[in-house]
Amino acid sequence: MQENRTDLKGMPLAELEAFLSRWGKERYRARQISRWIYRRFAEDFSSMTDLSMDFRGELSRECRVSSPPAERVEASSDGTEKYLFRLEDGESVESVLIPEEDRRTLCISSQVGCALTCGFCATGAAGFRRNMNTAEIVHQVCFAVKRLEERAERLTNVVFMGMGEPLENPREVSRTIAILLSQFGFGLPGKRVTVSTAGVFPAMLALAKGYPVSFAVSINAPRDDLRSKLMPLNRKYPLKNLIAAMKKIPLQSGRKVTAEYVLLAGVNDSERDAGDFARLLKGARVKVNLIPYNAHEYGDFTSPRGETVDRFRDILLSEGIQTITRERRGADIRAACGQLQGAAEANTP
Ligand code: SAH
Repeated sequence: MQENRTDLKGMPLAELEAFLSRWGKERYRARQISRWIYRRFAEDFSSMTDLSMDFRGELSRECRVSSPPAERVEASSDGTEKYLFRLEDGESVESVLIPEEDRRTLCISSQVGCALTCGFCATGAAGFRRNMNTAEIVHQVCFAVKRLEERAERLTNVVFMGMGEPLENPREVSRTIAILLSQFGFGLPGKRVTVSTAGVFPAMLALAKGYPVSFAVSINAPRDDLRSKLMPLNRKYPLKNLIAAMKKIPLQSGRKVTAEYVLLAGVNDSERDAGDFARLLKGARVKVNLIPYNAHEYGDFTSPRGETVDRFRDILLSEGIQTITRERRGADIRAACGQLQGAAEANTP
Protein backbone atom coordinates (compact mmCIF):
# COMPACT_ATOMS: atom_id res chain seq x y z
CA MET A 1 0.00 0.00 0.00
CA GLN A 2 1.28 3.43 -0.91
CA GLU A 3 1.93 5.41 2.30
CA ASN A 4 0.62 8.93 1.84
CA ARG A 5 0.60 10.07 5.44
CA THR A 6 3.22 12.66 6.40
CA ASP A 7 6.07 11.24 8.47
CA LEU A 8 6.54 13.40 11.56
CA LYS A 9 9.80 11.67 12.44
CA GLY A 10 12.64 13.67 10.95
CA MET A 11 10.92 17.06 11.08
CA PRO A 12 13.01 19.59 13.01
CA LEU A 13 10.96 21.54 15.54
CA ALA A 14 10.48 24.65 13.39
CA GLU A 15 9.14 22.53 10.52
CA LEU A 16 6.87 20.60 12.85
CA GLU A 17 5.47 23.87 14.22
CA ALA A 18 4.81 25.16 10.71
CA PHE A 19 3.24 21.87 9.72
CA LEU A 20 0.92 21.74 12.73
CA SER A 21 -0.16 25.35 12.31
CA ARG A 22 -2.58 24.11 9.60
CA TRP A 23 -4.71 22.75 12.42
CA GLY A 24 -4.47 26.06 14.20
CA LYS A 25 -2.74 24.33 17.10
CA GLU A 26 -0.67 26.05 19.76
CA ARG A 27 3.07 26.06 19.10
CA TYR A 28 3.85 23.99 22.17
CA ARG A 29 2.00 21.05 20.59
CA ALA A 30 5.02 20.58 18.33
CA ARG A 31 7.29 20.36 21.36
CA GLN A 32 5.01 17.78 22.95
CA ILE A 33 4.99 15.63 19.83
CA SER A 34 8.74 16.04 19.42
CA ARG A 35 9.27 14.76 22.95
CA TRP A 36 6.98 11.81 22.28
CA ILE A 37 8.97 10.85 19.22
CA TYR A 38 12.57 11.38 20.41
CA ARG A 39 12.29 10.99 24.18
CA ARG A 40 9.64 8.32 24.54
CA PHE A 41 9.90 6.73 21.11
CA ALA A 42 6.16 6.72 20.45
CA GLU A 43 5.32 5.12 17.12
CA ASP A 44 1.62 5.90 17.08
CA PHE A 45 -0.44 8.88 18.08
CA SER A 46 -2.87 7.04 20.34
CA SER A 47 -0.15 6.82 23.00
CA MET A 48 0.35 10.62 23.05
CA THR A 49 -1.89 11.06 26.03
CA ASP A 50 -1.35 14.78 26.56
CA LEU A 51 -3.03 15.53 23.21
CA SER A 52 -6.82 15.57 22.90
CA MET A 53 -8.53 12.45 21.57
CA ASP A 54 -9.78 14.41 18.56
CA PHE A 55 -6.33 15.72 17.70
CA ARG A 56 -4.80 12.26 18.09
CA GLY A 57 -7.44 10.95 15.68
CA GLU A 58 -6.71 13.65 13.11
CA LEU A 59 -2.99 13.06 13.40
CA SER A 60 -3.42 9.31 12.93
CA ARG A 61 -5.38 9.86 9.71
CA GLU A 62 -2.89 12.27 8.15
CA CYS A 63 0.45 11.55 9.77
CA ARG A 64 2.65 8.73 10.94
CA VAL A 65 5.88 8.08 12.82
CA SER A 66 8.12 5.80 10.77
CA SER A 67 10.17 3.10 12.45
CA PRO A 68 12.24 0.88 10.14
CA PRO A 69 12.79 -2.48 11.82
CA ALA A 70 16.21 -3.56 13.04
CA GLU A 71 16.27 -6.80 11.15
CA ARG A 72 19.57 -7.96 12.58
CA VAL A 73 21.27 -7.13 15.86
CA GLU A 74 24.77 -8.50 16.38
CA ALA A 75 26.95 -8.25 19.46
CA SER A 76 30.74 -8.39 19.39
CA SER A 77 32.78 -10.08 22.08
CA ASP A 78 34.09 -6.60 23.00
CA GLY A 79 30.59 -5.19 23.67
CA THR A 80 30.21 -3.40 20.34
CA GLU A 81 26.79 -3.88 18.72
CA LYS A 82 25.83 -3.64 15.07
CA TYR A 83 22.26 -3.01 13.86
CA LEU A 84 20.96 -3.61 10.36
CA PHE A 85 17.85 -1.58 9.50
CA ARG A 86 15.52 -2.53 6.67
CA LEU A 87 14.25 0.66 5.03
CA GLU A 88 10.82 0.99 3.45
CA ASP A 89 12.06 0.53 -0.12
CA GLY A 90 13.91 -2.65 0.84
CA GLU A 91 17.39 -1.07 1.10
CA SER A 92 19.39 -1.61 4.25
CA VAL A 93 21.92 0.32 6.33
CA GLU A 94 23.97 -0.39 9.41
CA SER A 95 24.82 1.45 12.64
CA VAL A 96 27.34 0.55 15.32
CA LEU A 97 27.12 1.20 19.06
CA ILE A 98 30.53 1.41 20.72
CA PRO A 99 30.55 1.27 24.51
CA GLU A 100 33.60 2.64 26.28
CA GLU A 101 34.16 3.22 29.97
CA ASP A 102 32.50 6.61 30.21
CA ARG A 103 30.97 6.88 26.74
CA ARG A 104 28.35 5.29 24.57
CA THR A 105 29.01 6.28 20.98
CA LEU A 106 26.67 5.55 18.10
CA CYS A 107 28.17 5.48 14.62
CA ILE A 108 25.40 6.23 12.10
CA SER A 109 24.94 5.99 8.35
CA SER A 110 23.75 8.85 6.17
CA GLN A 111 23.61 7.21 2.73
CA VAL A 112 22.74 3.76 1.38
CA GLY A 113 26.13 2.94 -0.11
CA CYS A 114 28.54 5.67 -1.11
CA ALA A 115 29.63 7.24 -4.40
CA LEU A 116 33.17 8.19 -3.41
CA THR A 117 34.88 4.83 -4.16
CA CYS A 118 37.74 5.24 -1.67
CA GLY A 119 39.89 2.19 -2.40
CA PHE A 120 40.13 0.94 1.19
CA CYS A 121 36.46 1.22 2.19
CA ALA A 122 33.92 -1.61 1.93
CA THR A 123 30.92 0.74 1.70
CA GLY A 124 32.30 2.28 -1.48
CA ALA A 125 32.85 -1.11 -3.09
CA ALA A 126 29.13 -1.79 -3.51
CA GLY A 127 28.49 1.64 -5.03
CA PHE A 128 25.93 4.30 -4.30
CA ARG A 129 22.24 3.47 -3.90
CA ARG A 130 20.62 6.64 -2.53
CA ASN A 131 20.64 9.31 0.13
CA MET A 132 18.90 8.50 3.40
CA ASN A 133 16.19 10.88 4.53
CA THR A 134 16.18 12.57 7.94
CA ALA A 135 13.68 10.11 9.42
CA GLU A 136 15.87 7.17 8.45
CA ILE A 137 19.04 8.79 9.77
CA VAL A 138 17.49 9.90 13.05
CA HIS A 139 15.74 6.58 13.59
CA GLN A 140 19.12 4.91 14.13
CA VAL A 141 19.55 7.19 17.15
CA CYS A 142 16.01 6.53 18.44
CA PHE A 143 16.66 2.80 18.30
CA ALA A 144 19.99 2.97 20.14
CA VAL A 145 18.80 5.40 22.83
CA LYS A 146 15.78 3.23 23.53
CA ARG A 147 17.90 0.11 23.72
CA LEU A 148 20.39 1.78 26.06
CA GLU A 149 17.58 3.07 28.30
CA GLU A 150 16.38 -0.48 28.78
CA ARG A 151 19.68 -1.19 30.51
CA ALA A 152 19.78 2.17 32.31
CA GLU A 153 22.49 3.59 30.04
CA ARG A 154 22.63 6.82 28.12
CA LEU A 155 23.89 7.65 24.66
CA THR A 156 26.68 10.23 24.98
CA ASN A 157 28.07 10.67 21.43
CA VAL A 158 26.93 10.39 17.84
CA VAL A 159 29.41 10.14 14.97
CA PHE A 160 28.55 10.29 11.26
CA MET A 161 31.14 7.62 10.44
CA GLY A 162 28.89 4.83 9.21
CA MET A 163 27.89 4.23 5.61
CA GLY A 164 28.05 7.14 3.21
CA GLU A 165 29.53 10.60 2.95
CA PRO A 166 27.42 12.84 5.19
CA LEU A 167 28.35 16.02 3.34
CA GLU A 168 27.13 14.58 0.03
CA ASN A 169 23.73 14.56 1.78
CA PRO A 170 23.96 17.89 3.56
CA ARG A 171 20.28 18.81 3.79
CA GLU A 172 19.17 15.63 5.54
CA VAL A 173 22.30 15.56 7.71
CA SER A 174 21.81 19.13 8.92
CA ARG A 175 18.13 18.47 9.68
CA THR A 176 19.23 15.41 11.67
CA ILE A 177 21.73 17.56 13.57
CA ALA A 178 18.97 20.05 14.40
CA ILE A 179 17.04 17.19 16.05
CA LEU A 180 20.11 15.74 17.80
CA LEU A 181 20.92 19.12 19.36
CA SER A 182 17.38 20.32 20.12
CA GLN A 183 16.27 20.22 23.75
CA PHE A 184 12.99 18.77 22.43
CA GLY A 185 14.95 16.19 20.47
CA PHE A 186 17.98 14.37 21.87
CA GLY A 187 19.51 17.38 23.62
CA LEU A 188 23.09 16.38 22.76
CA PRO A 189 25.82 19.02 23.10
CA GLY A 190 27.26 19.95 19.68
CA LYS A 191 30.74 18.85 20.65
CA ARG A 192 29.43 15.30 21.12
CA VAL A 193 28.15 15.09 17.57
CA THR A 194 30.92 14.53 15.02
CA VAL A 195 30.53 14.82 11.27
CA SER A 196 33.23 12.87 9.47
CA THR A 197 33.98 13.79 5.87
CA ALA A 198 36.22 12.53 3.10
CA GLY A 199 36.86 16.20 2.39
CA VAL A 200 33.75 17.91 0.99
CA PHE A 201 34.90 21.17 2.47
CA PRO A 202 32.39 23.70 1.06
CA ALA A 203 29.55 21.78 2.71
CA MET A 204 31.67 21.36 5.84
CA LEU A 205 32.16 25.11 6.21
CA ALA A 206 28.47 25.76 5.54
CA LEU A 207 27.45 23.24 8.22
CA ALA A 208 30.00 24.65 10.68
CA LYS A 209 28.34 28.07 10.31
CA GLY A 210 24.96 26.65 11.24
CA TYR A 211 25.77 24.22 14.05
CA PRO A 212 28.49 23.98 16.73
CA VAL A 213 29.25 20.33 15.95
CA SER A 214 32.66 18.62 15.85
CA PHE A 215 34.36 17.69 12.60
CA ALA A 216 36.63 14.86 11.55
CA VAL A 217 38.36 14.94 8.18
CA SER A 218 39.68 11.75 6.58
CA ILE A 219 43.07 12.83 5.30
CA ASN A 220 44.53 9.33 4.81
CA ALA A 221 47.48 10.43 2.65
CA PRO A 222 49.92 13.35 3.02
CA ARG A 223 50.45 14.10 -0.69
CA ASP A 224 47.97 14.78 -3.49
CA ASP A 225 49.25 12.11 -5.89
CA LEU A 226 48.81 9.33 -3.35
CA ARG A 227 45.59 10.76 -1.94
CA SER A 228 44.01 11.00 -5.39
CA LYS A 229 44.79 7.32 -5.94
CA LEU A 230 43.22 6.27 -2.64
CA MET A 231 40.39 8.83 -2.62
CA PRO A 232 39.30 10.02 -6.09
CA LEU A 233 37.44 12.93 -4.44
CA ASN A 234 40.88 14.50 -3.86
CA ARG A 235 40.96 15.57 -7.52
CA LYS A 236 38.01 17.82 -6.83
CA TYR A 237 39.02 18.93 -3.31
CA PRO A 238 42.85 18.74 -3.03
CA LEU A 239 44.80 18.76 0.22
CA LYS A 240 45.86 22.41 0.22
CA ASN A 241 42.28 23.66 -0.01
CA LEU A 242 41.06 21.04 2.42
CA ILE A 243 43.59 21.96 5.11
CA ALA A 244 42.89 25.67 4.56
CA ALA A 245 39.19 24.95 5.11
CA MET A 246 39.92 22.99 8.30
CA LYS A 247 41.72 26.04 9.65
CA LYS A 248 38.59 28.14 9.00
CA ILE A 249 36.23 26.04 11.12
CA PRO A 250 35.14 28.13 14.09
CA LEU A 251 36.25 26.34 17.27
CA GLN A 252 35.42 26.97 20.88
CA SER A 253 38.50 27.37 23.03
CA GLY A 254 40.42 24.16 23.54
CA ARG A 255 38.57 22.32 20.78
CA LYS A 256 40.27 20.77 17.77
CA VAL A 257 39.32 19.34 14.41
CA THR A 258 40.10 15.63 14.08
CA ALA A 259 42.33 14.51 11.21
CA GLU A 260 41.73 10.82 10.51
CA TYR A 261 44.39 8.70 8.86
CA VAL A 262 43.80 5.10 7.82
CA LEU A 263 47.15 3.28 7.92
CA LEU A 264 47.69 0.95 4.95
CA ALA A 265 50.81 -1.23 5.10
CA GLY A 266 53.45 -0.17 2.59
CA VAL A 267 51.16 2.47 1.08
CA ASN A 268 50.97 5.46 3.42
CA ASP A 269 52.67 4.31 6.64
CA SER A 270 56.36 5.17 6.13
CA GLU A 271 58.43 7.58 8.20
CA ARG A 272 58.48 9.94 5.24
CA ASP A 273 54.67 9.82 5.13
CA ALA A 274 54.49 10.65 8.85
CA GLY A 275 56.87 13.59 8.38
CA ASP A 276 54.92 14.88 5.37
CA PHE A 277 51.67 14.51 7.31
CA ALA A 278 53.08 16.48 10.26
CA ARG A 279 54.23 19.27 7.90
CA LEU A 280 50.85 19.34 6.21
CA LEU A 281 49.12 19.91 9.55
CA LYS A 282 51.43 22.78 10.65
CA GLY A 283 49.43 25.65 12.03
CA ALA A 284 46.13 23.76 12.13
CA ARG A 285 44.36 23.10 15.44
CA VAL A 286 44.02 19.36 14.97
CA LYS A 287 44.27 16.09 16.77
CA VAL A 288 45.09 12.98 14.80
CA ASN A 289 43.20 9.73 14.92
CA LEU A 290 45.23 6.89 13.40
CA ILE A 291 43.11 3.98 12.20
CA PRO A 292 45.00 0.79 11.30
CA TYR A 293 43.28 -0.62 8.21
CA ASN A 294 40.46 -3.05 8.88
CA ALA A 295 40.43 -5.85 6.35
CA HIS A 296 37.40 -6.83 4.26
CA GLU A 297 36.92 -8.87 1.12
CA TYR A 298 36.59 -5.85 -1.17
CA GLY A 299 40.10 -4.52 -0.68
CA ASP A 300 43.60 -5.86 -1.16
CA PHE A 301 45.31 -3.71 1.46
CA THR A 302 46.82 -4.98 4.68
CA SER A 303 47.15 -3.48 8.13
CA PRO A 304 50.61 -2.35 9.26
CA ARG A 305 52.41 -4.08 12.12
CA GLY A 306 52.05 -2.64 15.60
CA GLU A 307 55.54 -1.18 15.62
CA THR A 308 54.94 0.65 12.34
CA VAL A 309 51.78 2.19 13.77
CA ASP A 310 53.64 3.23 16.94
CA ARG A 311 56.51 4.71 14.94
CA PHE A 312 54.08 6.74 12.82
CA ARG A 313 52.36 7.97 15.97
CA ASP A 314 55.65 8.85 17.67
CA ILE A 315 56.78 10.98 14.73
CA LEU A 316 53.56 13.00 14.93
CA LEU A 317 53.87 13.30 18.71
CA SER A 318 57.46 14.51 18.38
CA GLU A 319 56.16 17.27 16.12
CA GLY A 320 53.81 18.32 18.91
CA ILE A 321 50.67 16.88 17.32
CA GLN A 322 48.16 15.25 19.66
CA THR A 323 47.75 11.72 18.28
CA ILE A 324 45.87 8.61 19.28
CA THR A 325 45.57 5.21 17.64
CA ARG A 326 41.96 4.17 17.38
CA GLU A 327 41.35 0.85 19.03
CA ARG A 328 39.78 -1.68 16.71
CA ARG A 329 36.27 -2.47 17.87
CA GLY A 330 33.71 -4.96 16.66
CA ALA A 331 35.86 -6.55 13.94
CA ASP A 332 34.42 -10.01 14.67
CA ILE A 333 30.98 -8.80 13.52
CA ARG A 334 32.39 -6.66 10.70
CA ALA A 335 31.48 -3.49 12.56
CA ALA A 336 34.91 -1.84 12.47
CA CYS A 337 35.70 1.33 10.49
CA GLY A 338 35.25 0.81 6.78
CA GLN A 339 33.56 -2.59 7.06
CA LEU A 340 29.92 -1.52 6.88
CA GLN A 341 28.04 -2.65 3.83
CA GLY A 342 24.40 -3.01 4.76
CA ALA A 343 23.05 -6.24 3.37
CA ALA A 344 24.90 -5.68 0.12
CA GLU A 345 26.89 -8.86 0.57
CA ALA A 346 23.65 -10.83 0.39
CA ASN A 347 22.81 -9.29 -2.99
CA THR A 348 26.12 -9.98 -4.67
CA PRO A 349 26.78 -13.44 -6.05
N1 SAH B 1 32.60 9.33 4.43
C1 SAH B 1 33.05 9.76 5.72
C2 SAH B 1 32.55 8.91 6.87
C3 SAH B 1 32.60 7.41 6.71
S1 SAH B 1 34.17 6.61 6.81
C4 SAH B 1 34.55 9.89 5.76
O1 SAH B 1 35.19 9.54 4.77
O2 SAH B 1 35.09 10.40 6.73
C5 SAH B 1 34.70 6.77 8.48
C6 SAH B 1 36.21 6.58 8.63
O3 SAH B 1 36.60 5.22 8.37
C7 SAH B 1 37.02 7.42 7.65
O4 SAH B 1 38.08 8.08 8.32
C8 SAH B 1 37.57 6.41 6.67
O5 SAH B 1 38.77 6.86 6.10
C9 SAH B 1 37.76 5.21 7.58
N2 SAH B 1 37.84 3.92 6.87
C10 SAH B 1 37.23 3.56 5.74
N3 SAH B 1 37.55 2.29 5.41
C11 SAH B 1 38.37 1.84 6.36
C12 SAH B 1 39.02 0.59 6.59
N4 SAH B 1 38.85 -0.45 5.78
N5 SAH B 1 39.80 0.47 7.68
C13 SAH B 1 39.94 1.50 8.54
N6 SAH B 1 39.33 2.69 8.40
C14 SAH B 1 38.57 2.87 7.31
